[in-house]
Amino acid sequence: MSDPHYDVIIVGAGPAGSYAAYRLASSGHRVAVFEEKSAPGIDACCTGIVSSECLESLGLHTDVTLARADSARFFAPSGKCLRVHTDKVQAYVADRSLLDSALAAKAQSRGAQYFFSSSIRDVVPGKESIQAEARCSDTGEVFTARAVILANGCTTELPQKLGLGKVKRFLIGAQTELETRDINEIEVHFGRKVAPGSFAWLVPVSQDRAYAGLLTASDAGPLMQRLVDDLVRKGRATDRHVKIRQKAIPLETPARSYGDRVLAIGDAAGQVKRTTGGGIYFGHLGAGIAAEVLDAALKSDDLSMRRLAAYQKQWKARLGRELRRGQLARWTLTRLSDGQIERVFDVLGSNGIAQNMVESGDISFDWHSKLVLAALRYGSAYPWMRVRSLLSRGGGP
Ligand SMILES: Cc1cc2nc3c(=O)[nH]c(=O)nc-3n(C[C@H](O)[C@H](O)[C@H](O)COP(=O)(O)OP(=O)(O)OC[C@H]3O[C@@H](n4cnc5c(N)ncnc54)[C@H](O)[C@@H]3O)c2cc1C
Repeated sequence: MSDPHYDVIIVGAGPAGSYAAYRLASSGHRVAVFEEKSAPGIDACCTGIVSSECLESLGLHTDVTLARADSARFFAPSGKCLRVHTDKVQAYVADRSLLDSALAAKAQSRGAQYFFSSSIRDVVPGKESIQAEARCSDTGEVFTARAVILANGCTTELPQKLGLGKVKRFLIGAQTELETRDINEIEVHFGRKVAPGSFAWLVPVSQDRAYAGLLTASDAGPLMQRLVDDLVRKGRATDRHVKIRQKAIPLETPARSYGDRVLAIGDAAGQVKRTTGGGIYFGHLGAGIAAEVLDAALKSDDLSMRRLAAYQKQWKARLGRELRRGQLARWTLTRLSDGQIERVFDVLGSNGIAQNMVESGDISFDWHSKLVLAALRYGSAYPWMRVRSLLSRGGGP
């Protein structure tokens, strides 16, 4: 059999795919990235909030960002507001088109080859190589490689076809961009009417523009339109006729994120914060671990499932606890009534507990497990003993 075209084919030029491409190409591997869109980050349904820790780890600068955040206002269902702020910048709002393009450019600068408007329809592992069937500008072509990384988000059939399992639990994220008035700080809104079991957000990106979005288990489109209508009615947004985008967010990981000659990273591996649905940083960390494991496997020419299992072991050691505690927080939030959310606000608002948590370091933008435990400790409407007893009765996260 002739030599494979590439060492690694990466399906999807999102942040996870391009970061893996950058790392593997930097280690001297021949890398090809296939992206079904015509350019990186086009029409991404994402608010692009990343921590300074994430931006730095991605090796990017503030030129891919639209705004920065050092404070946020949280609203209970009744409209009661809790404001927290810090002295230093906690997060940036990245322009996804700029962020994805910058990561692709970094990978290209190390020799990774990009194929845009090229969708991978099938992946077929073999003994000596793995084939990727691509649809590039209306023609079908087969490419071979030594390994494939699936970095194509969570809604495709490929992982299941390759025996990695199927992600069945999702949230739907909906988002739009609005012309706004007087939205100067990030706002997070809770309540059954706004986003049942979850939350909605407003994120200013300039003086008169903001992203509005929400997460929910169903009906994201109508809820999003209601949010926009409400903002227009209150004079905070100017136009109710906006384009609403929707995308699934995985709430679980597939049974396996590895197989013979295959790895899955980013949303495709469920590397997403269960609390907020944010996946750029965890997907980036997963991509880094995948690149390290694959680099060693390529060098030793052992791309068996057994060898690649180290990837899942390593990324779960890094992110597993966060995902489990995040799942607990999400599970609790979906069960809170509006009255119980009000009580949580009362507790966190009294004696400046929320602000103290920020200042004590209990709240980290990316690592929420401390926050989850602290919130339960501060005697929320679902104290820890109650959560434990509900868990022991089954039906838990
Ligand atoms: C409304 C909303 C708001 C969000 N806000 C944030 C936020 O503020 N911060 C945050 O960290 N996360 C946020 N997220 C989550 C974040 O967008 C994802 O976690 C992140 O984009 C995952 O990166 P990825 O590289 O794994 O996948 P993606 O970014 O989804 O990239 C996958 C790429 O693969 C391509 N592709 C798919 N199938 C194929 C195929 N067969 N062949 C070729 N190419 C293919 C797609 O076109 C896409 O470009 C949000 C999500 C939603 C829905």
